[in-house]
Amino acid sequence: MVKLYNSLTKNVEDFKSLHPLSVGMYACGPTVYQFAHIGNFRAYATADLLVRVLQYNDYDVNFVMNITDVGHLVSDADTGEDKLEKSAKKEGKTAWEVAEFYTDAFLKDYQALNLTPPATLCKATDHIKEQIDLIQRIEENGFTYTTPDGIYFDTSLLKDYGKLSSFDKTDAGFTRVDANDQKKNPRDFALWKFSPKSTPDSKRDMEWNSPWGKGFPGWHIECSAMSMKYLGETFDIHTGGVDHKEIHHPNEIAQAESVTHKPLAKYWLHSSFMLVAGQKMSKSLENTYTLYDLEKEGFSALDLRYLYFNAHYRQEMNFTFEALEAGANALKKLRQEIVKWDEAPDEEVEGERSRPEGTVREYEKRFLEAVNDDLNMSKALGVMWELVKSDNPSSAKSTALFKMDRILGLDLKAQSIEMRKEQGVIPGHIQALVEERQQMRKEKRFNAADHIRAQIKRLGYDIEDTVKGVKVRKI
Ligand code: AMP
Ligand code: ZN
Repeated sequence: MVKLYNSLTKNVEDFKSLHPLSVGMYACGPTVYQFAHIGNFRAYATADLLVRVLQYNDYDVNFVMNITDVGHLVSDADTGEDKLEKSAKKEGKTAWEVAEFYTDAFLKDYQALNLTPPATLCKATDHIKEQIDLIQRIEENGFTYTTPDGIYFDTSLLKDYGKLSSFDKTDAGFTRVDANDQKKNPRDFALWKFSPKSTPDSKRDMEWNSPWGKGFPGWHIECSAMSMKYLGETFDIHTGGVDHKEIHHPNEIAQAESVTHKPLAKYWLHSSFMLVAGQKMSKSLENTYTLYDLEKEGFSALDLRYLYFNAHYRQEMNFTFEALEAGANALKKLRQEIVKWDEAPDEEVEGERSRPEGTVREYEKRFLEAVNDDLNMSKALGVMWELVKSDNPSSAKSTALFKMDRILGLDLKAQSIEMRKEQGVIPGHIQALVEERQQMRKEKRFNAADHIRAQIKRLGYDIEDTVKGVKVRKI
């Protein structure tokens, strides 16, 4: 049984899907106006983990993610510029070009991190009609009002508005200097924004006709419109970063539930922030790292993936290069173990074959219990390492480990084959030293042979004398 913490009920609950063995899941995706940083990717890594855990439990997961390519304004109070239009001006491109460029960049990193591709990846700009239709329904239900700059949702009319969040309704903190004073209540939000009165300078790259005039959709409406289009009026799980719990998700719920009178999603999961030196990783604090920044330092996307498992998704995670390095080393060690198993045929552990082969299953069971316990990955990794270090036959260990890797997504099989290939290619100068050492041994000059062995080790290779001859391996 999968157990998940549901932000809506603020409890860990047994997961019960709306339909047997099938799950509809929506994840809030990126706003494509700049490179996504590794903090952003933590949110997608959590969604991916959840998909994998559900699939491991035999659910068929219909996974939908959006791409926000219009309407996300600089300020959460629905004022300020559209993030995409702003980026476009800065980069001397159109908003369309900016969206395409950063969507491609996002998908490249997404793939490198081995994140599960959504069955549907939907762009806000491809669903303008669906958004207009939904706003019309909200209007028909009496929840909208018009201001000089747009159509707004009146949050005071929805009695359980904000049920997901921890904010206090009077919420003075929300009324900031940039607050939009045309709004009736500070928490009201834009459903449709009018294009500014056109001067050549202010003309938007992205705008559409609507029953209310030319403009563009507010940020929140896309997720309600697209999630319901692809998953129905009520679906199983909705995920996103923890910041969405306060504004974006309450607004998604308001837009959907004010017209359907049904819950939008049954379970809401939020992943916590990645920090740097105790502060949220964010562009405005200039403390972000992209995957490319890590790659420049010699780390891989899978090293980062391993690092994500170190903290529970509901806990903040402080990013340091030391922690990343420790993760990278652990991953390397894991691959080395697999390579060793491949090289050490089970004859060597012949005695162990006669033992009851139940213990590997025991690890699998405990691993599953850990991941099913609200995605407890540090516990799951602990069990995985216990398995790796156990004295079970290597063939049984690798079968179990590769099964676990369906959740870990560390590509262990392919990566260890790759490592083995690399290790198999011994450079000429090392080979020459190995041969020289063999000669010394033949001549019984063992001190000289040991000396060469130490030299080989300093150069990063290890040699092992076996009955079949000398084995050389990169350390
Ligand atoms: P955005 O592209 O700004 O819409 O954000 C994409 C996702 O990244 C959202 O789900 C945010 O909650 C999440 N996010 C932003 N900053 C961080 C961070 N430092 N750590 C973890 N998640 C973050
Ligand atoms: Zn969303």
